[in-house]
Amino acid sequence: MGAIRTIALVILGISGFVFVALFGRLPAFRKTPIGWLYRALWIHIPNGLLYLDNWLLNGWLSHCWSCSGSYILHENHPLILIFFSSLMIAGQCMFIPTAWPRITTVHHIWIPIIATMPYVLLYASVTTKSFITPKNYTVEKERYPYDKVIFHPGQRCRTCHIVKPARSKHCSICKACVARHDHHCVWLMNCVGLHNYHYFLSMILSLCLMLIYGSCLGYTLLYQTYDRLIPPGSPLRTTRQTWTGFCNIWAVVIAADIRIGAITLLMTMTAPLAAAFLVYHTYLIWAGMTTNESSKWSDWKEEVADGMAYKSSKAEIYGSSPLLAEYQSAQSFWPVSSDQVLILTDGEPPKEGCLLSRDSNEIKQPSNRDAPIDRRWVQVKSMKEIDNIYDLGFWNNLRHVLGLAVRPKVV
Ligand SMILES: [Zn+2]
Ligand SMILES: [Zn+2]
Repeated sequence: MGAIRTIALVILGISGFVFVALFGRLPAFRKTPIGWLYRALWIHIPNGLLYLDNWLLNGWLSHCWSCSGSYILHENHPLILIFFSSLMIAGQCMFIPTAWPRITTVHHIWIPIIATMPYVLLYASVTTKSFITPKNYTVEKERYPYDKVIFHPGQRCRTCHIVKPARSKHCSICKACVARHDHHCVWLMNCVGLHNYHYFLSMILSLCLMLIYGSCLGYTLLYQTYDRLIPPGSPLRTTRQTWTGFCNIWAVVIAADIRIGAITLLMTMTAPLAAAFLVYHTYLIWAGMTTNESSKWSDWKEEVADGMAYKSSKAEIYGSSPLLAEYQSAQSFWPVSSDQVLILTDGEPPKEGCLLSRDSNEIKQPSNRDAPIDRRWVQVKSMKEIDNIYDLGFWNNLRHVLGLAVRPKVV
């Protein structure tokens, strides 16, 4: 019993650790215990260790770490991909041959499909790149309009020396600009972006299916062992069980069927992680944004909460200026456009004569401090007032990320 409980606690601890390490940086967790744990894990504990190392060992440890750590953190290495694949292969090698003689033909058909799909999709996610190259630059530049809220025209990548297309981001690990950048995935040694997002999404879905299906099958097999060990009519079944008694019986069952028991425990405890990842990406698709964009929107949320964001309309702000034509024609190839102009102030309402910037939302207030307030601007009170032109509605967003044509009727 003690050993099984220790194994279960260790697996639970590892799952919790991986969850915090993977999800803790997401803006949704910024002010939650998960976000605090994430900062403790990646910022406060390393800083504390650095301080101790400087004090006790004169920086010897951090020197060694900077040699190996910069490789682990900043280079595109296969260690996590190898670990992840090995865990999957080892788990399947332990589970499938043991389960095979004990299951029905229906499972004999399903198991090879469900067990193979994650590898096929993992391979596709790893090998499909979404890099912006001189060959595809023109296409990528025209793919999305600049919304002038989270993506501004004219911003150059200092490494690739190109004007960054809207929704792209430079990845310092892949050393390339990535089209519709979502995030750099260390498990894949690759950036998740425009061309492999659908593979990545399908891979998480296939992992979820494999883990849930495997867990259910595992429990069915463990019940067989349970029936074998404790026959129907045994007093162990009929007497009222305590929680400890229940755990003890299952500990004996798992120990008697250790291969199925251990892998079923592992699958049951990792399935929520894969499911959480799937739910998070479904939310992103619903909201019409990528992981990269979610952090930009999160910054806007803070600006709105601080009362720094103001909005107006293009016609009102640009009037007959040639900028109006430029800003309206730029969106002709994308089904959604917005008439909104957004600015960020230093807290003071925008004054008449303030200057707008082309490559950011910051404004320059007039030098005359007594200038009257510009009444064309209205303070943004909630994120709901801000248009996201990349959001086409859930089903169209889903079709778009899957590479299917977007249905024409878009509001
Ligand atoms: Zn770049
Ligand atoms: Zn990358």
